[in-house]
Amino acid sequence: MLDEILIKDLECFGYHGVNPEEKTLGHKFLISILMRGDFSKSMETDSCFDTVDYSAVCEEVTALVAGESLDLIETLADRIAHLLLTKYEIVKSVRVEVQKPWAPVRFPMKTVSVTIDRGWHRVYVGVGSNLGDSEKNIREAVAMIGESDRVRNVKLSGLISTKPYGVKDQPEFLNGAVSFETFLQPRELLRFLQDIELKLKRERKEHWGPRTIDLDILFYDDQVITEPDLRIPHPEISKRDFVLKPLCELDQYLIHPVYRKQVSQLLEELQASPAYEKTVE
Ligand code: AMP
Repeated sequence: MLDEILIKDLECFGYHGVNPEEKTLGHKFLISILMRGDFSKSMETDSCFDTVDYSAVCEEVTALVAGESLDLIETLADRIAHLLLTKYEIVKSVRVEVQKPWAPVRFPMKTVSVTIDRGWHRVYVGVGSNLGDSEKNIREAVAMIGESDRVRNVKLSGLISTKPYGVKDQPEFLNGAVSFETFLQPRELLRFLQDIELKLKRERKEHWGPRTIDLDILFYDDQVITEPDLRIPHPEISKRDFVLKPLCELDQYLIHPVYRKQVSQLLEELQASPAYEKTVE
């Protein structure tokens, strides 16, 4: 259970909205911020260096709201969450509410507001390549992941050569896994990774066919998502030694949230199964 600090209805002035008048005349906004973290050390030291200085937060948020004019209060809420999560390491997650009182629509309305929850999540991504200089492709993709200011603590496993899986008649693959923390939402993360695939000129010609770079979300905390275009944990994890091996190297105690087993146990079970197709040399 994390501790919480709440700033309620901070009055700010800014120029956000889709109407031209809002961008010139400006508007009052009420901002509420809930910051979660472990602030217990401050309770021993009684020092504001061991917690979040909420007057500093108010100052920074007020400056941000007064700054660049945005169309949407959604974007403004995201910018505030981004500021707090990157500036204050002790803050693990935030809830940000942006209220726009008397929003200029042709209806009697007291206020409209947007609330978002954002926090740091631990993510594991499978990386693979079998076109061009595979090691260079993988290292470039990992560098691009690390360049995002919504990502931190990137760690790449060792890379292993593997026989092709699925479509056999193609060059060997180089595979690995990368772990990092991010406050991108699962779908944002998928778009972010697909963008990197595109930038590295991945050609999406054939399912399980040759590719410059393949980035698959393996785990996102212990979340389970089963949507047609996004499945987390990745459904193939338990069938692929070239995924389980790098995962074990990054964290052998990592638990698969559906099977409720450690990745090291899943690897042992896979290797012991009669249908096991060894792909790792
Ligand atoms: P592939 O060509 O094998 O990399 O598959 C890419 C497609 O799989 C994309 O259109 C994604 O929407 C979908 N997909 C579903 N779940 C995931 C996941 N966990 N990670 C990456 N792509 C996924």
